Amino acid sequence: MIKFENVNKYFDQHKALKSLSFELPEHETTVIVGPSGSGKSTLLRSFNLLEQPEEGLYSLDDKVIDFAQPISEKTILEVRRQTGMVFQDYNLFPHLTVLKNVMEGPLHVLKEQKLIAAQRAEELLELVGLSDRANYYPNQLSGGQQQRVAIARAMAMNPKYLLFDEPTSALDPELEAEVLKVLLKLDVEKNSMVIVTHNMAFAKAVASNIIFLEEGNILFNGSPDEFFNHP
Ligand code: ADP
Ligand code: ADP
Repeated sequence: MIKFENVNKYFDQHKALKSLSFELPEHETTVIVGPSGSGKSTLLRSFNLLEQPEEGLYSLDDKVIDFAQPISEKTILEVRRQTGMVFQDYNLFPHLTVLKNVMEGPLHVLKEQKLIAAQRAEELLELVGLSDRANYYPNQLSGGQQQRVAIARAMAMNPKYLLFDEPTSALDPELEAEVLKVLLKLDVEKNSMVIVTHNMAFAKAVASNIIFLEEGNILFNGSPDEFFNHP
C-alpha cells in the first residue's frame, strides 16, 4: 500500500502538491490524470523519492517516511527497490543488447547468478512480445518496442509497485496499442501499478482506480466507472 498524509511539495514559492492525503491499495492499476502542470509527474516521482516533498508522511507498506526529516540513503535504496520506474524516454543502455538491458539490474544490483538472470530476462521478453529481439540494440527498435524493453527491465527487479511516467506520450497510436496490450497482460496480483498519462482513452483502458489532479489538489479519487460515466 502507498499512503500519503498531508503531503506538501514546493518548488520555491510554488506549491506543486497541496496537502495530499490518499491511499493506493495493492493489486490495483491507479492512473493519475489531470492537466499539464497539475503535479502528476511530481506525485509519481515522490513515490520513489526522485522528488522529496518537504512535509507530510509517506507509508510504503510497513515503512513510514516523514518528509520533514532527512531521508537516509538506505531508505532511498529500499524504496527504489520496491518501486520500479518506467521512464517516458525509456532510459535504456544504448551499448547493451535488449537481453543485457533486462539482465543489468538483477546482475549488478540484486547480484543474481548470470544464468538465472538470463532465464528470467528471457521470460520477461516473452511476456512483452520481444523474444525475437533479444540480441538487438535499443537503436534498432521502434519506440513501442523500446518502451516494452523498459517495462521488462523494470519488472526484472521484481518491484512490488511499477510506476509509469507517460508511457505512451512519445508513441504514435499504433505503438501505443502495443504498449497498452503489454500493460493489460501484467499481473496485478504480483505488481501494483501507478501510471501517469495525458491520454484519457489509455486511462480508461487500463485503470482500476483513477486520481484526478488539478493545481496540486486531488479533485477525484475513485473508480473509472464513476470518473468516466458521471463527470
Ligand atoms: P510534463 O509536464 O509531464 O512533462 P508536458 O506538459 O511537457 O508534460 O506535456 C507533454 C505532452 O502532452 C505535450 O506534447 C503536450 O502538448 C501534451 N499535453 C499537455 N497537456 C495536455 C492535456 N491536458 N491533454 C492532452 N495532451 C496534453
Ligand atoms: P504534470 O506532470 O501534471 O505536467 P508536474 O508535476 O511536472 O506536472 O509539475 C507540477 C508543477 O510543478 C508545475 O507548475 C511545474 O512547472 C512545477 N515543477 C515541476 N518540476 C519543477 C522543477 N524541477 N522546478 C521548478 N518547478 C517545477
